Amino acid sequence: MKYPKLRELKEAIKAVIKGPYTTKFPYEPHVPPEKFRGKPEFYEKDCVGCCACAEVCPATAIEVIDDTRAKIPMRKLVLHFDICIFCGQCQANCITEKGVKLTGEYDLALFNRNEAIVKVEKELLVCEECGKVIGAKDHLYFLASKLGPLAYGNMPLLLTASGELELVKTPPTIGPPLRRAHIFRILCPRCRREVLLEDIWGKKKPEK
Ligand code: SF4
Ligand code: SF4
Repeated sequence: MKYPKLRELKEAIKAVIKGPYTTKFPYEPHVPPEKFRGKPEFYEKDCVGCCACAEVCPATAIEVIDDTRAKIPMRKLVLHFDICIFCGQCQANCITEKGVKLTGEYDLALFNRNEAIVKVEKELLVCEECGKVIGAKDHLYFLASKLGPLAYGNMPLLLTASGELELVKTPPTIGPPLRRAHIFRILCPRCRREVLLEDIWGKKKPEK
């Protein structure tokens, strides 16, 4: 073509007046757009340790580590952002809507991949009988607050919620076998079922 198109000429003049369109990164920090999906972060105050984010993560980037042997049983959620695909599912499915969020942070280069983690820790509630995990305490508080009076239909929720208010103290371990009096203890669903069966059907016959 002999002459440049008018549109291109207009763009060229604009570029001369306004300067280059490209950003000055890395000399000046780049500000990502509002809905940019960058490095995910946990927010300790708003996370209740329910693990919903780990369940929905398509890249299995969120690891759940329960330590029931420690003096205070703890749950650790470790998000490996080196394998995260920044899909936003964790944020979209967080039960509190604020426990995990994708930030605007995009400069994630590291020498050591083991450092590519963000984590949050939550205290666990374990069964007083068998030691199995019932859930994170904050999760139970959250459920109790959401359910209101309906929470009183569930013994661990009732004991957890009331325990914080110092209204009900968990009675000390009575010792095996499980029986009716254990109903007011913090038990996992399996042990609670045993208590209820014992209550309905009486003592179990020893297996031959
Ligand atoms: S953004 Fe997607 S891939 Fe990354 S941790 Fe959340 S759910 Fe997993
Ligand atoms: S509260 Fe949100 S961030 Fe915390 S474990 Fe549950 S889904 Fe994940």
